[in-house]
Amino acid sequence: QNILDEYEDRTSVSRSAFLKAQDHMPGGDTRTMTSYWPYPVYFDKGQENTVRDLDGNWYTDFLANYGALVHGHNHPALIEAVHEQIEKGTAPGGPTFVQIEHARRMRERVPSLEKLRYCNSGTEATMWAIRTARAFTGRDLVIKIHGGYHGTHDWSQISAFVAAGGEFEQYDRDLDPVQVSPGVPESVLNSVLSIPYNDTATARRVLDDYADRIAAVIVEPVLGVGGGIPAEPDFMRTLRDRTAAMEALLVFDECATFRVGPWQLKHDVRPDLTTFSKIVGGGLPIGVFGGRSDVMKIFDPLSESEPVFHASAFGGNSLSLAAGIAALDNFGSDEIERLNELGSTLRAGLDRMAAREGIAGDAVGFGSISYFHFGSGRLDNAADTAARRANRATLRGLVHLELLNKGFLVGRHGIICLSTPTSNEAVSGLISAFGEVLRKLR
Ligand code: PLP
Repeated sequence: QNILDEYEDRTSVSRSAFLKAQDHMPGGDTRTMTSYWPYPVYFDKGQENTVRDLDGNWYTDFLANYGALVHGHNHPALIEAVHEQIEKGTAPGGPTFVQIEHARRMRERVPSLEKLRYCNSGTEATMWAIRTARAFTGRDLVIKIHGGYHGTHDWSQISAFVAAGGEFEQYDRDLDPVQVSPGVPESVLNSVLSIPYNDTATARRVLDDYADRIAAVIVEPVLGVGGGIPAEPDFMRTLRDRTAAMEALLVFDECATFRVGPWQLKHDVRPDLTTFSKIVGGGLPIGVFGGRSDVMKIFDPLSESEPVFHASAFGGNSLSLAAGIAALDNFGSDEIERLNELGSTLRAGLDRMAAREGIAGDAVGFGSISYFHFGSGRLDNAADTAARRANRATLRGLVHLELLNKGFLVGRHGIICLSTPTSNEAVSGLISAFGEVLRKLR
């Protein structure tokens, strides 16, 4: 009750905004993820790694828009790039030089990206990667990972496969069989199969069973929304070997992992296609998909065969690309390493606080992105994450609110993202605040 009272006292203008917003938007917002009980804080300004709410409270920003704002807010190089570009125009309705400049930088960083194309979000990038795979292979079936998040289009909203009409076996062992958003047609269920993460034996079995029907396997190198769980390299190598043998495409969704250094480079597993978004647009909307040039050739309007039609009024718009170039040019290997190390320091600190307060839980993650999970037990896949989250919604909600009371913004589901303006002191501050919150809740 104390926590709630303090929250409501500090955020009365946000509460009024929440009530007003509901006149216009169901739930008072447009993103399900950013809505929480009793009402969310409404923001009006960001500065470096801080954000200010409508009541004038400042928060140290450990969300960085779910990792997308790798340079925090108002980075001078990004402002300059966007300013310069907006004076020249945002999207001229034809190809631009800024596309070449951005594409060159992407290809320098990710050698498997022989050819690429632009769209507006991670959702679109994964949608296009799958369309590409289906068009190239002439097959329909997509294998995804249970709890794998690739945005919000129909097939990616299927977390666990269920046999609509009983055509497929249910491969998922422990979880609710159906986690599909209302509105996703049943027909989509017959073209997507979901397998547990890091389960090499099941992956091998499913891929072999459906070998001649599989267009693509899509996988995050770290299960992000599914709990911040890194892939076992053996699992990924099995996916690589099996898809290559059956001439299906392997798609890595590196929308989130790109900011820690592409997984495919560290582990030397080369996918056929990769998707990117978030930081590569420097804080503006972007999606990128690409890979093998023989595959991407299906988009070439100059080729003899019928090209795949790819249109988008703002795909590859100059503003996002100019911001993206500035973001990439200011995020070289030194900055990536510094943030990744700071992420390790943070995780160790959160673990230390949980141990000190005698509360079961641990921090997991990858480089500059971390998650805190209460409870104990293995974390290999989304079923493990679901078990760790079960019956702890109130606890997680209170930790989130109390951290806001103390001036720290983290994700409501426990995600913590660092940005280049994040200092060592800010991380120490979050670790201590977390310890105090746990003590209060103990
Ligand atoms: N893929 C991954 C791995 C993501 O983390 C996200 C967003 O969180 C997406 C795709 C979807 O990106 P967007 O929100 O830009 O559609």
